Amino acid sequence: MPGTASLENREVWFLTGSQSLYGDEALRTVARQSREIAEALGSARSVPVRVVWKPVLTEPGSIRRTIMEANADDAVIGVIAWMHTFSPAKMWIGGLNVLDKPLLHLHTQANAGLPWSSIDMDFMNLNQAAHGDREFGYILTRLGVRRKTVSGHVSDPRVTRRIGTWTRAAAGWAATRSLRLARFGDNMRYVAVTEGDKTEAESVFGVQVNTWGVNDLAAAVDTVSESDVARLIATYEDLYDIAPELRRGGGRHASLRYGAAIEAGLRSFLADGGFGAFTTNFEDLGGLRQLPGLAVQRLMADGYGFGAEGDWKTAVLVRAAKVMGEGLPGGASLMEDYTYDLTPGEEVILGAHMLEVCPTLTAERPRLEIHPLSIGAREDPVRLVFTADPGPGVVVALSDMRDRFRLVANEVDLVEPAEALPNLPVGRAVWRPSPDFQTSTESWLAAGAAHHTVMSTAVGAEAFEDFARMAGVELLTIDDATTVRGFEQEIRANAAYYRLARGL
Ligand code: MN
Repeated sequence: MPGTASLENREVWFLTGSQSLYGDEALRTVARQSREIAEALGSARSVPVRVVWKPVLTEPGSIRRTIMEANADDAVIGVIAWMHTFSPAKMWIGGLNVLDKPLLHLHTQANAGLPWSSIDMDFMNLNQAAHGDREFGYILTRLGVRRKTVSGHVSDPRVTRRIGTWTRAAAGWAATRSLRLARFGDNMRYVAVTEGDKTEAESVFGVQVNTWGVNDLAAAVDTVSESDVARLIATYEDLYDIAPELRRGGGRHASLRYGAAIEAGLRSFLADGGFGAFTTNFEDLGGLRQLPGLAVQRLMADGYGFGAEGDWKTAVLVRAAKVMGEGLPGGASLMEDYTYDLTPGEEVILGAHMLEVCPTLTAERPRLEIHPLSIGAREDPVRLVFTADPGPGVVVALSDMRDRFRLVANEVDLVEPAEALPNLPVGRAVWRPSPDFQTSTESWLAAGAAHHTVMSTAVGAEAFEDFARMAGVELLTIDDATTVRGFEQEIRANAAYYRLARGL
């Protein structure tokens, strides 16, 4: 994965609250039990990062110092807090006011069952997270601290799964905050939804969005060596079924070599600049002879964020989804709502793009082909052709609503196309949106959500909900519980809420 540590090298710190009132013996028990809980989380299969236990916190100075240390350590992507006993929450104000990392409030206790026949007041005094965590929740809410709250015993896989999802969202958030995004050229002419406030994006998401001339990229492509091209061709032969005309000795092999040169040039440009995401624009290709298709598909597969037609907002989402989904089955890609099958009751969406759909959406072996592009006046571009695998997924779009950013997520079910698609030479996906086509599309349109999305089949809507909460950005989710009436109500309420929450 470019430009970021892998998940196994990321940390979340486990903070336990208590107070000195209980005495040393009780605090030793608190320390032992909280360490056991941190270890249980760290060894849970669904938690992909390291969980680092920190000594029990009992007074304001150490709380503030610990939180500032978490802020300063780039390996730390978030903090989990649990009040084992009663930790008077005014102790936490100074620390919480400087907290700059995502917070998960774990509401749990050491024991799963209660020892009903032996329970006494000593047990009650030691195991009182039921009210200690309420004291903590109060101060979090009073201070307006954004967090995810997860309740239940750590032996419950539902608990560890939700915590694992949050750690993935936190990794995506950490990646977004340090993301450098290169735009080759500007926005597609006249298009509205792909525009946005890049200064605001850096303030909200941390991402640096800047433009480079496409001829800087063309120059990098022109300097690629024949041996680098040959190495990539050998990789393509390993990974893809290559159309005969593109193979060595085939009539159009030169086009594949040029596609490989684009990939090598783009890779070196992005690596040299420390970029984790990029955009292209088919209207502005400068000295490039092909629209980058194969190269973009392969870079996305390696974890780069990408948006077409200058769409840097979707590139940010693709990058976040790549980091969040690391190591999971499935993938993430730029996706575009393209055309529909409107057979009543059987409606599906056919998504694709001109070329740039990521092959991580399938476990099958893609075909590497060359075909004309119906728009733009360039040479025919090489591209990977495949159909995304069936299964659950989510599509997420990011719109600039002028006074704020809005994320819209839709849970979907990817399905097999009803028939083969022999004349559609692009990567594509077919899906049924939840809860049904009408509710989904009417809600999507009411929200002003974009035609470009990130499609993830590795992480679901909950990861993006956690991500949005970390960012403090509006997220509207369309799922099985959505009705158009309720959704419109939520849009109206959010319009007021986000304006007020932002202050004057
Ligand atoms: Mn597009």
